[in-house]
Amino acid sequence: MSDVVAPRRSTRERRESAAVKENDAWVDARGGRATIEAVKRESRAVEIERRARKRLGIIDDRDEAWGAMGATPGRGWDAAREAWVQCDAPGCARWRRVPRCVGDALGRTGSGFTCADGRDGRFNSCARAQEATDREIDAILDESVRADEEAKAASKREVINERTRMAQKRKRMAFLEERHRKGEIDLREDGTYTVLVPKKVKNGERWIMIKRKRKKALQK
Ligand SMILES: [Zn+2]
Repeated sequence: MSDVVAPRRSTRERRESAAVKENDAWVDARGGRATIEAVKRESRAVEIERRARKRLGIIDDRDEAWGAMGATPGRGWDAAREAWVQCDAPGCARWRRVPRCVGDALGRTGSGFTCADGRDGRFNSCARAQEATDREIDAILDESVRADEEAKAASKREVINERTRMAQKRKRMAFLEERHRKGEIDLREDGTYTVLVPKKVKNGERWIMIKRKRKKALQK
């Protein structure tokens, strides 16, 4: 029966530990004990998670998700759109395929599930056979976990790249604002600017510095 135990561990525990982690951070943020860095990290983690789910095509609306579920178990990345839950009815313990949002909700609330709760008419009774063998379900769950990891990694790269570009843009704007303040350029709202000092030598910056030094020298 070890085959039966394995999927439950990989779905329920994985999701439960994620939920607990999220809750801790929330309490920290509300209690004001979290540092700004921790809040930033948390918001980044939430953003990565949101994008990964979108990337995997996970549908959050129950009715829509049940309607979109295929006739056969999804494999590879498609496996991440589904979850397998075990029937709690005495003597059944069969595994049933449900949309990911349904599996996630069951994992979060810890509420029970029986075959009759399913919406696939072929499998919504304890009298019906399991859709796939325990071994097949284990393999599908492995693919689902792998898809989650890949989608998360891709989303993380995307978020980091975006933030790096934003930081570079901010740095460049700060540099231009400084030049504007010094009167070297006229910086406009849209980010364009006109150089106010005529470029008499190739290296404009160097020329500006020399000119300022001279000015200072005359004032003494
Ligand atoms: Zn059942």
